[in-house]
Amino acid sequence: MTAAVEVVVVGSGPGGATTAALLAEAGREVLLLERGGHHALDSCEPFSPLEMRQKYRHGGISVALGKPSVAYAEGSCVGGGSEVNSGLYHRAPSEVLERWTREHGVADLRPEVLRPHFEAAEADLGVGLMPPGTLPAASLTLARGAHALGWHCQEVPRWYRYPADGAPVKQSMTQTLVPRALAAGARLLPGVQVTRLQRRAGLWQVHGRTDGQAPVALLARARHVFVCAGAVATPHLLRRSGLLAGSASPLHLHPTVKIVARFAEPVNGPGMGVPVHQVKQFSPRLSFGGSVSTPAHLRLALMDLPDGAPLVERHWRHMATYYAMAVAGRGSVRTLPLLRDPVVDYALGDAGVEDLLDGLELLGRCLFGAGAVALYPCVQGGGAVHSLSELRRLRFDLRKEHLRVMTIHLMGSCAMSGRAEDAPGTDSFGSVRGQPGLHINDASLMCTALGVNPQGTLMALARRNVAHFLQQGSVSGD
Ligand SMILES: Cc1cc2nc3c(=O)[nH]c(=O)nc-3n(C[C@H](O)[C@H](O)[C@H](O)COP(=O)(O)OP(=O)(O)OC[C@H]3O[C@@H](n4cnc5c(N)ncnc54)[C@H](O)[C@@H]3O)c2cc1C
Repeated sequence: MTAAVEVVVVGSGPGGATTAALLAEAGREVLLLERGGHHALDSCEPFSPLEMRQKYRHGGISVALGKPSVAYAEGSCVGGGSEVNSGLYHRAPSEVLERWTREHGVADLRPEVLRPHFEAAEADLGVGLMPPGTLPAASLTLARGAHALGWHCQEVPRWYRYPADGAPVKQSMTQTLVPRALAAGARLLPGVQVTRLQRRAGLWQVHGRTDGQAPVALLARARHVFVCAGAVATPHLLRRSGLLAGSASPLHLHPTVKIVARFAEPVNGPGMGVPVHQVKQFSPRLSFGGSVSTPAHLRLALMDLPDGAPLVERHWRHMATYYAMAVAGRGSVRTLPLLRDPVVDYALGDAGVEDLLDGLELLGRCLFGAGAVALYPCVQGGGAVHSLSELRRLRFDLRKEHLRVMTIHLMGSCAMSGRAEDAPGTDSFGSVRGQPGLHINDASLMCTALGVNPQGTLMALARRNVAHFLQQGSVSGD
């Protein structure tokens, strides 16, 4: 069945859900199309194998080619990455926004313009600190190490509700903006992959398939389309539709390396959530924090150690995984003929490799400062190190392709630009130049890597862009 609607939103992650909710609440007729399935937030154990199968793209394992390659993970379900992420919230650093204005000419990024959008996003999600006395031990341990060295470390607020009589509830999109969009009259079709967009007779034709196997069909005609498919899928869809020139778009991400630390005292236990402290002493070049550290995740992190599994078995309550996150390097998303999926690559460059090696060393210093008795850097062929000098030796012996680099923050593949000479591209508010009625409203819009967890910023930008669209009276699609 082909629907005729005013607005189609492609992808229901934080960008798409925000777009659909605000447009529907403004009285627009909205159809929200999502490639992944529609699962309740509590349909599976967080960080479990079932969650990986149900809610992640490619079961949570995708790879950006390079030396070293970068493993990356993306949510793919109603709610997108917000259903699987850790809920750590930051506003964009002001120096990053100033740079986007200075170097990319993006309009309206001044603090007084963005503040109400950040505040609204924070209110929508209930962003706040954890209740007193509930901070995970692994988080306090990182903070102790940072304080011992006199480094700046902060508890990062999250989008969680903390009911007095139950477990904390993450305020993902299926808990917040998706139900709001539906209550305001939007329609949601999960399990629908959009494969092509074509403009015919003043309307956008939206083609796709209703499950992985079904043939491509015309799904909808719409005056406006907001593509919010995430930083990898958004440029791929536009390019497959012949709406972006060339064969590749740039890609920014936060390359990240990890260390498992073992302490004399317990730092882990059943149900321990993700640590919420981050060390910002070396920000924006490097940030440190803690990762999920269930026994299964610890075993995965130690897969390079022959005795990793028994080590975890014996000591997991004394172990936790920590990360060092950088902003270096540059990648691309390429669309190749005959390939259904895009090809992603990432070049860290020598400076990026140095940043990650510095990150491993400084993070190690912090963890030894917190009392770690052994560190297991997640590198190919790595073993245990028991002192800072051993860690330094490992750093200098390590070949760069042996670093195990990963990321969960992808952005910047269709960057906003206030300069018309950058056409074809998106303007300062995500409208695609030369394509009336076509907009982008997700993490793709960021001009560079952000240096902090990105969801809060992309939601504030999505709000600002929808407000601009509504103020303009949606003229571009007329
Ligand atoms: C494990 C993990 C932990 C994270 N932790 C944090 C954190 O603590 N704090 C933070 O700020 N950020 C975190 N992030 C990053 C954050 O989740 C993302 O930045 C955010 O979800 C990106 O939002 P988006 O709307 O751009 O895209 P996504 O959330 O990727 O949503 C895009 C949606 O579009 C759908 N889609 C794609 N192609 C199509 C198509 N052709 N047709 C229809 N639908 C399509 C996808 O299935 C997906 O559901 C984390 C991410 C992961 C994976």
